[in-house]
Amino acid sequence: MTRAIYPGSFDPFHHGHRDIARRAAALFDELIVTVFDAPAKRLLFSTDERIQLAREALQDVQNISIVSYSGLTVKWAERHGVRVIVRGLRNVDDLSFESRIDMANRYMAPQIETCYLLCSTQYAYLSSTILKEVASLDGDISGWVTPHTAQALRRRFA
Ligand code: ADP
Repeated sequence: MTRAIYPGSFDPFHHGHRDIARRAAALFDELIVTVFDAPAKRLLFSTDERIQLAREALQDVQNISIVSYSGLTVKWAERHGVRVIVRGLRNVDDLSFESRIDMANRYMAPQIETCYLLCSTQYAYLSSTILKEVASLDGDISGWVTPHTAQALRRRFA
């Protein structure tokens, strides 16, 4: 049985994230979306809110669970018997950034592999930063997040 984790800040979880999570869940027996428990002031949503929004977006997928984590991703993976980290790639900038993290991770935990999934073309420009910027200016975000998340963003920026 292969368990994989999909770590990130997910502030908030959008359709680009959902696309990667669903595709990874089809490849592995179990996918754990691990939401980074970052200091609250750095992010728009609290850790609990980010978990709830991701959970709602993925409720139809059986083999996905969502938890929070802190500390080094590879240490968390080791403690939980996980051998695969899933990351999404949008472009060469992501690849360049991710490859440095990957090498550092392999220095610390050589038995853990990172698996990259190229994003679907319709989400190649989408980031949580762009999403929040557009939402804060009352733009249309309905094609990027679930209605539940859109409502949470609207409330936050009201
Ligand atoms: P970070 O990991 O830097 O906190 P995010 O939480 O936004 O950033 O992203 C988590 C993961 O989702 C990363 O692997 C990131 O590359 C990937 N990702 C972000 N946006 C998209 C997108 N539009 N399509 C596919 N993958 C994405």
